Amino acid sequence: MLEVRGLSVNYGPFRALHDVNLTVQKGEIVVLLGANGAGKSTLFRTLSGLQRPSGGTATWNGTPLTGGRPEFNVAHGVAQCPEGRLLFPELSVEKNLRLGAFVHRRDAAGTARELERVYALFPILVEKRHDAAGSLSGGQQQMVAIARSLMARPQLLLLDEPSLGLAPLVVEQVFGAVRRVNEAGVSVLLAEQNAFAALGIAHRGYVLEGGRVSLQGTQGELLGDDRVRSAYLGV
Ligand code: ATP
Repeated sequence: MLEVRGLSVNYGPFRALHDVNLTVQKGEIVVLLGANGAGKSTLFRTLSGLQRPSGGTATWNGTPLTGGRPEFNVAHGVAQCPEGRLLFPELSVEKNLRLGAFVHRRDAAGTARELERVYALFPILVEKRHDAAGSLSGGQQQMVAIARSLMARPQLLLLDEPSLGLAPLVVEQVFGAVRRVNEAGVSVLLAEQNAFAALGIAHRGYVLEGGRVSLQGTQGELLGDDRVRSAYLGV
């Protein structure tokens, strides 16, 4: 499981995360709700090994994730699908997917198997496999980004704002895909501003405000909480 204990992160004198505690159990989808600037991306960058914490610990099945070596974290089962997708638009869909398998570059047969698995999870990408990634619709590009992260064969997927800029119907398709990924055995930590869609698929969640966890609960508890309803669900 993912275990974050007392995690603090500073940018110079500015403290972006204060004493954050959270867990993701094997098989769970856990949502991290928070407005712009709440610290979601900072937490993900830290769990990916891109940002060193100033205090606290973060471990995946006991392995520390805070050593500052992103490739180590990927090799130990933690992959991030970044906000904004960050695809290579001129490269084909399949080349983008293969880049996600970088840590397994010495295992061509395993990568071929994984490619078939992600095409089975995202059938829409099969017919697009030779198209430039930049020519796909926003929703399809988000599917490519998620599929690319899966090529690293993660046990835990850190998914940053997958619904950003997508129409409601497309958001539904992307979240359906996230659910299938989870059912295929991948635990998911999902950062989202679209609380309604995210709580539709999450088992539990945390609310991050000003770099602190201000609230946590099950899907039902968060959907019924007045603060969540007014701040994130618009009701
Ligand atoms: P968004 O959804 O806009 O990405 P977020 O919840 O992911 O928001 P972060 O990007 O983690 O929030 O930012 C948390 C805080 O840290 C913000 O106040 C932001 O201005 C600040 N911050 C982020 N990156 C840096 C940096 N490199 N240097 C200084 N401050 C930063």
